This record gives sequence, structure tokens and C-alpha cells, in this order.
Amino acid sequence: MDIHISPEDTKTVELVREMGKEYLRPLGIEADRLQRAIPEDHPFYKLVASSGYMERTLGTEQTDSEKKSVSKTRRTHWVRNILVAEEGSYWDRGAMVSLPGPGLGGPPVDRMATPSQRERLFSIFRQREVPKWAAFAMTEPDAGSDVKRIATTARKEDGGWVLKGQKMYSSNSPRADWIVVFASVDLSKGRDGHRAFIVEKGTPGFEILKIEHKMGIRAYETATFALNDCYVDSSNLLGGEEYYKKDANEGFKGAMATFSATRPLVAAMGVGIARFAHDIARDFVKSEYPHTPLRDKAISRLAWMQQKLAVARMLCLQAAWRLDQGMPNATEASMAKMYAPMICLKIIQQARVIKGEDSLLVDTLLEKLERDVKAIDIVEGTQQIQRRIVAGNVIGRDLR
Ligand SMILES: Cc1cc2nc3c(=O)[nH]c(=O)nc-3n(C[C@H](O)[C@H](O)[C@H](O)COP(=O)(O)OP(=O)(O)OC[C@H]3O[C@@H](n4cnc5c(N)ncnc54)[C@H](O)[C@@H]3O)c2cc1C
Repeated sequence: MDIHISPEDTKTVELVREMGKEYLRPLGIEADRLQRAIPEDHPFYKLVASSGYMERTLGTEQTDSEKKSVSKTRRTHWVRNILVAEEGSYWDRGAMVSLPGPGLGGPPVDRMATPSQRERLFSIFRQREVPKWAAFAMTEPDAGSDVKRIATTARKEDGGWVLKGQKMYSSNSPRADWIVVFASVDLSKGRDGHRAFIVEKGTPGFEILKIEHKMGIRAYETATFALNDCYVDSSNLLGGEEYYKKDANEGFKGAMATFSATRPLVAAMGVGIARFAHDIARDFVKSEYPHTPLRDKAISRLAWMQQKLAVARMLCLQAAWRLDQGMPNATEASMAKMYAPMICLKIIQQARVIKGEDSLLVDTLLEKLERDVKAIDIVEGTQQIQRRIVAGNVIGRDLR
């Protein structure tokens, strides 16, 4: 593995650090206390848009030959996204996810869209006047871990498609300009019937049913919505008809490839949250911890935390680096997602042990970090599911 971090990547991370200190942390804490997301019209989002942040999240376009080449000087895209995800989540994971940009809607467009769809969908993030969001909707009331069970249907009609069904836990969907919605054109075909559609803001029949009341990461909205016979133009079939002719389960493969990009990102967010918990504990040991035999124990706990953070970070970077090189990364992505959230929860708990009774106090933030990190284990597939994927790849059988 030969990871190259360009000066521009470093600049982007520094930008996120500054934004984190000044805005993400205070806004995230406020959202947590008020138990509601940062409002869509908050002036902070305008500032983010005007800084060009939305465009930076799109990364650089890679030509096919670039994808195949391994060059030290080539600017990386997913590695940079990992660094940004960790840094932003260090300041506040909820506020980070609430930022305008394509979010989880970006990877399926990256992977599946035709050049004209890509231009149409991504161009809104290149303007700097108004904050814009996108979202991703796979999960349904009866299809979470087992995505082949999705029951939202897509029926061909009048040169377009009619979508019917319900999606849940879709992050940022209430404010999204467009949402990538996975639906089936033939439920009897299972995975082979899966297609991805773009549902745009204002589509008749699109209805937000519920915004979840979450235990943590409250700065962004996670919603259930209904697709009540929503008509979308044929140009909103992601990839176009041709895309799905390559292979019967190309739609399902597209969704899985999306997860291979987003799982390391979500895992890196866990690393960011846990790094903050580590720093709280470290500062406490350095400045206030009483000089008793317990101090040595606290110091060795800090060493354990450091080592686990480094391993989790390397797993995320490895998965992202492989993606940047155009190499298969499903196993590495699942290993990062399987390991990081679980170990990050333990790191936060160790920080709480060091802080003792203080860790129960809301003001120390450790109890918030523990609530925030829990979601990381669930989003984009739980650790149990990641184990099945890794084990399946090891023994050469699809266990999903
Ligand atoms: C905060 C948040 C944001 C989210 N954002 C999005 C989003 O933007 N878009 C989107 O589409 N979805 C989103 N999700 C949904 C998320 O991806 C699903 O919650 C996740 O895939 C798990 O599905 P489920 O909740 O239905 O759990 P279930 O699939 O019902 O699983 C319940 C439990 O059973 C275990 N389990 C299930 N199957 C197996 C098995 N075969 N072997 C062993 N154990 C198993 C699971 O590990 C889990 O512990 C979000 C979820 C959360 C919490």
C-alpha cells in the first residue's frame, strides 16, 4: 500500500478542522441538547456552500486509464474522503453528515450514472450560492440487512417509471434535491430485479412520513418516506437501460459497490468520534489525574486506545486506497466496517473508565460520544453482516 496524500488533500482536511472547531462541534452539541437537526436554512450551510466545500466532496474525475494505473502522484479521492470523514467526525459526526453535498447519494451516481446524468446531478454542487443535499434510500421496513428483500416497485409507464413503496432511515432525505432510490422492476427476480432511480425534490407522490428521534447524531435528519405512485422520467433510471443489460444483477452489484465505497467512510467516522474520546482522556491524565498507582493503569489504557485507533484507521485507508487504485475492495471495506465501530465504542468506554464518575456528566461529552458512535455500527450494515461478507469472500461463497 502506497498512500499519497497531496497538499490539496491536506488543505481540505485543514479546512474541515477549522470548520469543525468553529461550527461543527458547537452546532452538533446544540442539536443534541435541543434534540433536533440543524435547520436547513441555518446561515452556516450558506457559508459552507460559498466555501466550495460541496464541490470538494465530489473528488476528482478519474479516467478509465487512471483507474487502472498505479501512480504515486495521482490525486486520490476516496483516501481523501476518509481523512475528511475522520476529521469532521472528530468535531461532530452528526453535524458532519448534515453538511450540504451529495452525501451517501454520491457513490451510486459515481459508480452507475451515465455521463449526462452525472453532469446533471453533480452540477448543483458546483455552484456556491445555495446549499444543496442529496440522499440514498435502500432500507425499508422489511429490508434492512437483507437488501434483496426490498419491496418498493418500479413500473414502466408513459416513457418513464412509477415508483411505489416506503423507504426508511434515509439520511438527509427531507432536504435532499435528489435521492437515489432502489426499487424492483420484478419482485419475483430478487436481486436481478433491482434498479436505482433518481427521485427529485417536488416529485408528486413523494411524502415524508416520519423524522426519527435518534439516541445520538441528532444534527441531521433520518427519515421514513412514502413513494405514492411517483412518476419519474426514463432519464432518471440511474445508468440508463443499457447499464442493466450487462448482467442480470447489475443493479444489485451497483448497490454493493456503493457500500464498498461508503463502509470505510462510515468506519472512519467512528475513528473520528473515538479519537476525540481518546483526547479527552489523554488531557485528563496529563493535567488532573491524581498520582496514585491507578495513573499507570490509565496510561496503559491510553496506549491501548492509540494502538486500536491506528489499526482501525489503517483498515479504512486500506479499503479506500484499493478503491482509488481500481482494485476490488469489498472484503477490506467490510473488515473496516466490522472492526472500527466495535473497537471505537470500546475506546470511548475506556475513556469513560479513565474519567471515572465525571464521564457520566453531560458536559464531559463522553456520554454523547457513546450515543453517537452506536449508529456507526448499524449504518451501512451491522458488524454481523460484515462478518458474513468477509467470511463469504474467504470461503468463496455468497453468505449475504
Ligand atoms: C442513523 C441511521 C442512518 C441511516 N441512514 C440510512 C440511509 O441514508 N439510507 C439507507 O438506505 N439506510 C440507512 N440506514 C439504515 C441502515 O443501513 C439499516 O438500519 C441497517 O442496514 C440494518 O438494518 P435493520 O435496521 O433493518 O436491521 P435488521 O436487518 O432487522 O437487523 C437486526 C439485527 O439482526 C442482525 N442480523 C440481521 N441479519 C443477520 C444475519 N444474516 N446474520 C446475523 N445477524 C443478522 C443485525 O446485525 C442486527 O443486529 C440508517 C440507519 C441508521 C440507524
